[in-house]
Amino acid sequence: MAYDFDLYVIGAGSGGVRAARFAAGFGAKVAVAESRYLGGTCVNVGCVPKKLLVYGAHFADDFEQASGFGWTLGQAQFDWPTLIANKDREINRLNGIYRNLLVNSGVTLHEGHAKIVDPHQVEVNGECFTAKNILIATGGWPQIPEIPGHEHAISSNQAFFLKELPERVLVVGGGYIAVEFAGIFHGLGAQTTLVYRGEMFLRGFDGSVRKHLQEELTKRGMDLQFNADIERIDKQADGSLKVTLKDGRQLEADCVFYATGRRPMLDNLGLENTGVKLDKKGFVEVDDLYQTAEPSILALGDVIGRVQLTPVALAEGMAVARRLFKPEQYRPVDYKLIPTAVFSLPNIGTVGLTEEEAREAGHEVQIFESRFRPMKLTLTECQERTLMKLVVDAKTDKVLGCHMVGPEAGEIVQGLAIALKAGATKRDFDETIGVHPTAAEEFVTMRTPVAG
Ligand code: FAD
Ligand code: NDP
Repeated sequence: MAYDFDLYVIGAGSGGVRAARFAAGFGAKVAVAESRYLGGTCVNVGCVPKKLLVYGAHFADDFEQASGFGWTLGQAQFDWPTLIANKDREINRLNGIYRNLLVNSGVTLHEGHAKIVDPHQVEVNGECFTAKNILIATGGWPQIPEIPGHEHAISSNQAFFLKELPERVLVVGGGYIAVEFAGIFHGLGAQTTLVYRGEMFLRGFDGSVRKHLQEELTKRGMDLQFNADIERIDKQADGSLKVTLKDGRQLEADCVFYATGRRPMLDNLGLENTGVKLDKKGFVEVDDLYQTAEPSILALGDVIGRVQLTPVALAEGMAVARRLFKPEQYRPVDYKLIPTAVFSLPNIGTVGLTEEEAREAGHEVQIFESRFRPMKLTLTECQERTLMKLVVDAKTDKVLGCHMVGPEAGEIVQGLAIALKAGATKRDFDETIGVHPTAAEEFVTMRTPVAG
């Protein structure tokens, strides 16, 4: 049977665009449907605008520290609408670039909501298109628990478009988004409280990293409330919000921001017309080749709930395009040693095993740690300290994990990830000449283990 397209991609986000462009480049006839915004979450309400807001928040530190270097500044003033307007202009520019990327690579763009009608057919804006393969790349959506008053809370989707900076913000959650946005609001001048239900935020990160960030955020004056869960939110007559915790305590805020994870975006997608199965958490179930239970339908990115990061969605998009249309170039995505950063203030950068994971996996470990006051701060009053940590296998000398909390941690860890991927040993680190004077050189000068 002749199909309209070889591949019909639903969702023009990180993974969908990558798969579509490369499939078209390999000679396939490709269409993409996008219902909301070109570039998906990352470009519109994720990585990119988030990082711009983090840069904005960081100026507070720069202004404070400048006097140590002889600068005298007037009273610094911050204008939230200016930051948001400039951010929106940049995102608009990126939307245009994504449109050109798709169109110039020969992909047909359908702007509208796509619904799967049968395993080889998609409906968009009332029109049906047939395809040999359909790729679900619909991403995720913020998930807010349905406690009484949840309608008064916002998620990251709204945070990027607030009309003004709230005076008091209560951030709920202890993952990437909660920690990053707490840093943004706090840095920009809002009185910020982070409420997390467990003992210590950033579950899954190295224990030293979690504790170090907790100490640094507390030093900065952020209010961290752990072992705290919200029971209800009530709007008061003056428009402010009264938040009641399960232990009976009450907190007041002008904005309650939930960052409690993301669900797969499957709304009105028509999966009931297919044999696609979902896993226990409700994400689309795929095999190692991103194939769903329906032979003609594939899925990738956040909607499969493996690793919700843009570079992972990009790698999966590339793998799908190659497998379908350039099988001789196919290489599976390697999910080991994925580096990642949390753009908190200060940043976290990490790659490889945490100390806890390494011990649990049965490694005999040597731990190297360095804590120091960054050189830039020595002329200032700022008492912030940087943490660097290496987790090493004592038997093989292989470096299993690198962790950092401090300025530019994400930038530094990207290079270390290449070393770990190449199988670097602690000796390789030791024999590498440092770049002086940098913070990064500390990673090649840690000589004495702090724990074995
Ligand atoms: P998405 O990028 O979400 O794209 C899915 C697209 O599908 C969307 O454009 C959507 O509108 C469209 N769509 C959905 N349903 C339909 C339909 N039925 N018809 C047509 N179109 C449809 N990752 C990082 O690596 N680094 C970061 O710093 C980072 N920061 C983040 C900050 C925030 C606040 C958030 C929310 C996420 C962040 N992420 C970050 C995660 C990253 O954004 C995602 O992992 C990535 O965007 C996933 O890509 P995707 O292609 O799977 O989905
Ligand atoms: P995460 O899964 O990272 O964190 C969710 C947090 O919410 C956890 O602390 C979790 O607690 C808590 N939580 C979950 N359910 C509830 C509940 N019902 N009540 C109270 N707390 C709850 O999700 P995020 O929303 O922060 O981010 C989604 C994903 O997006 C991230 O996992 C990451 O992959 C990606 N991302 C990446 C970024 C980056 O690369 N810099 C930045 C932002 C997002 P517990 O730990 O106890 O389960």
